[in-house]
This record gives sequence, C-alpha cells and structure tokens, in this order.
Amino acid sequence: MQTNQFDLIIIGAGCVGMAAAYYALKSGKKVCVVESQTIGSTERYWSSSFSARQNRVQYNEEYLTRYVLESNKEWKAVEEDLQPFNDLKRKFLSEEGALWFGDKNTSTSEGNIKAANAVIGMINSSARTKEERVESLYMEKLMQGSPEFMRAFKPNDVPNSATSEWDTWSALYQPNGGSVDMEASYLAFTNFVKTKGATVYDNSAVVDYKTT
Ligand SMILES: Cc1cc2nc3c(=O)[nH]c(=O)nc-3n(C[C@H](O)[C@H](O)[C@H](O)COP(=O)(O)OP(=O)(O)OC[C@H]3O[C@@H](n4cnc5c(N)ncnc54)[C@H](O)[C@@H]3O)c2cc1C
Repeated sequence: MQTNQFDLIIIGAGCVGMAAAYYALKSGKKVCVVESQTIGSTERYWSSSFSARQNRVQYNEEYLTRYVLESNKEWKAVEEDLQPFNDLKRKFLSEEGALWFGDKNTSTSEGNIKAANAVIGMINSSARTKEERVESLYMEKLMQGSPEFMRAFKPNDVPNSATSEWDTWSALYQPNGGSVDMEASYLAFTNFVKTKGATVYDNSAVVDYKTT
C-alpha cells in the first residue's frame, strides 16, 4: 500500500471525527485526519469547544433515551481504554444527576418534562431486569416556591408565589445524567490518534474531493 493511501480519511477533527479515528485505528485501519484549524486550540471555531456538554436520558423520544443508555456504557469502556492517554486525569462522563424542572406543559427544543417522564415509564414497563430499568424521580407538583427549592436552584422566571401557575410545575430527576468533559475526552482521543500512527494534518482545509 502506498503511503498516501488510507482505509479512511476523516475530514474535520472535532470530537466526532476524533472518535471515528479512534474506532478505526482500534480495528486496524489506516487512518488520515484532515482539519482546517489548529487541533487542540481552545478557540471556539468548532462545536467541540472545550466546555462541558450535557449528558441526559430525558428525551421525548424513546429511541434517544435508549441510545444514551447504551452510549453511556460505551463512554465508560472508552474512558477505561484511554486511561494512559488521559493527560488531564479527569473522568469523561460525570454522573452528578440531571434535574429538569418547570412547566410540564411547555415544550422546548430540549423536550418536555411530561413526555420525557412517559418515555422513562415506557422503558421501565418493558424492562425484564433491574439493569434495564431507568432510575428517576418525578415530582408531579413542585411545592409553591418551596424555600429549599428556591435556595438550591435559584430559578429564573418562576411564577409569582402562591399563584395557580405553580400547579403545572413539575420536576424530573435522573441520577445518572450529568456532563461530558469535552476537554479531557477530546485530548485523550487526540493523544491516542497521534500515538497510534494516524496521519494527521491540521491547518489544512479540504477544498475539494472526487469519488472514483
Ligand atoms: C453551544 C453548543 C452547545 C452544545 N451543547 C451540547 C450538549 O449539552 N450536549 C451534547 O451532547 N451536545 C451538545 N452540543 C453539540 C455537540 O457539541 C456537537 O454535536 C459536537 O461537538 C459535534 O462534533 P463534530 O466533531 O461533529 O463537529 P465539530 O466539532 O464542529 O468539528 C468539525 C470540524 O471540521 C472542521 N472542518 C470544517 N470544514 C472543514 C474542511 N473543509 N476541511 C477540514 N476541516 C474542516 C472544523 O474546523 C471542525 O474542527 C452543543 C453544541 C454547541 C455549539
């Protein structure tokens, strides 16, 4: 095989590109990664900039919740596998829990509390083992401006205290939710990809390609 021939050429070294390179290298492929910017730069020209990313199982769609449950297992396996490359020595996936609260009838681009709770209920009703169940806590009615709640979460745009609007406020807590440490995981993927012999070009934009 000539040196400029690859099994896989990945255009864009964001977190998805780097993860693809990781899996391809693990399966013995010859990999090239091409990135238009400087790999590892903390500038926010890309989606994979180094702030944390929310990781949650609360979705309106059952397939998304199931997908996250499966991918969480994969995150843990990858974290274990990339330990020697994890220079920052931080966990990739933290499980501090994910709490949603607000008007249960409101739908946003993130979803809807009532629908997400229904999805968890559906998964649990078809679960055959304890492991297949999704742990969660649904509070149908938040206490009207409960002082503990207000102190803990300092929410914005809450209804005036003692109005009936509180009647539709609910909360859905899921203990395994949390965040992805983009910086630690991205740097570990990058270390792996460079160490395992991928050809990596950065500051090199792909301007054209041809299929054969
Ligand atoms: C503000 C914000 C908040 C988010 N919050 C969450 C969250 O809470 N939870 C969650 O799961 N997801 C979240 N996401 C989504 C998640 O961050 C992205 O889906 C993910 O980072 C995408 O990674 P990527 O590798 O596909 O793309 P990118 O990180 O965008 O990487 C694409 C790369 O391709 C390079 N490139 C582009 N064109 C070329 C070219 N012609 N030649 C070579 N290289 C090129 C770019 O420079 C870039 O580095 C959020 C995204 C944003 C922007």
